[in-house]
Amino acid sequence: MGLSKTIWASPSEFIRTQQPENPVMFFAPMVLQATARRFLEGFPGLVTYAVKSNPDEMVIQNLVAAGIRGFDVASPVEIALIRRLAPGAALHYNNPVRSRAEIGFAVEQGVKSYSVDSRSELEKLIALVPAEGCEIAVRFKLPVAGAAYNFGAKFGATVEGAAALLARVAEAGFVPSLTFHPGTQCTDPAAWDAYIRAAADICGRAGVRARRLNVGGGFPAHRLMGVLPDLQAIFALIGRVTAEAFGEGAPALVCEPGRGLVAESFTLATRIKGIRDGAHVFLNDGCYGAMDELPITGIIDRITVISPEAEPRRGEAADHIVFGPTCDSVDRLPGEVALPGDMAEGDYVLFAGMGAYSTATNTRFNGFGDLSIATVMALKP
Ligand SMILES: *Cc1c(COP(=O)(O)O)cnc(C)c1O
Repeated sequence: MGLSKTIWASPSEFIRTQQPENPVMFFAPMVLQATARRFLEGFPGLVTYAVKSNPDEMVIQNLVAAGIRGFDVASPVEIALIRRLAPGAALHYNNPVRSRAEIGFAVEQGVKSYSVDSRSELEKLIALVPAEGCEIAVRFKLPVAGAAYNFGAKFGATVEGAAALLARVAEAGFVPSLTFHPGTQCTDPAAWDAYIRAAADICGRAGVRARRLNVGGGFPAHRLMGVLPDLQAIFALIGRVTAEAFGEGAPALVCEPGRGLVAESFTLATRIKGIRDGAHVFLNDGCYGAMDELPITGIIDRITVISPEAEPRRGEAADHIVFGPTCDSVDRLPGEVALPGDMAEGDYVLFAGMGAYSTATNTRFNGFGDLSIATVMALKP
């Protein structure tokens, strides 16, 4: 992935002057820092960043500059990245299944917080990690809808299982905590309500007071034009329900947003390679590139089409089937996408809110995916 060092005023300025043939991610550090401040000021606890959603070094550096002091990491590479870029930051190793070698690396790097969802992996941690001042958070799951897809399908103990694990964590001398993830792009705040009350239930069953409760990521980004997520309402609900469910001695809160922090600070610019017989639109990026997750999480309809001279196309919109550049037939954006009638081959199609799970999962399949990043002052095309 190329890296442009120059700072541009806007995506339009870059496109007008550079006429990029390959897809470009426009990154606005000021938007990222403003979003980080919204979390830091609004969330009633510690805000950490889920590195996997976008591990770009500029992203990490800007989050540190904005005041983020904790990171959710899932692998030795992510641990080493954060140790290098933010040496004093707290590392939460919240991938519930790790090899013994991975645990050894984390201990060596001074990681003091782990999550776990099973007896086998808890016994591994107890055997390999010094308990003194070290937190183990038990990850649990509920059958709750409300997110873009089901995160409980892979990780999380049942409420009964979590109570037994929490008791074992405390007995082994670790700092006992709880954690969950309501599912990514969780637009229904009721999910957090149910999870927080279940956390109090688990503590009651285990007879253990949890030191911290990590309410996960899942904070929604702005993906659909008509649907503006209300983060402040979710923050307020989390604070209120925690106080109600736990009363005196409530655990300290932690959150670990990925998407909610980073999505808004990137806009993806793709180019129209061809409009096949006036019907199907072929872009130079698609589901094997920066739009890898759209088939799972749904379309982002915050789309602007501009000419190579950066003039916005304003023709009446009509639905189109949109394909990516590879020869694989699943390389198609979900559903049909409304695009202006006066668009033309060579135009640029800009997707806002593309910062999460895009640069990180981009592939070079079929020889495409030559994605670069350009820094801009503002994302307004
Ligand atoms: C992926 C992940 C996150 C971030 O999820 P978002 O939906 O991007 O906020 C947070 N915590 C854990 C444990 C994760 O695996």
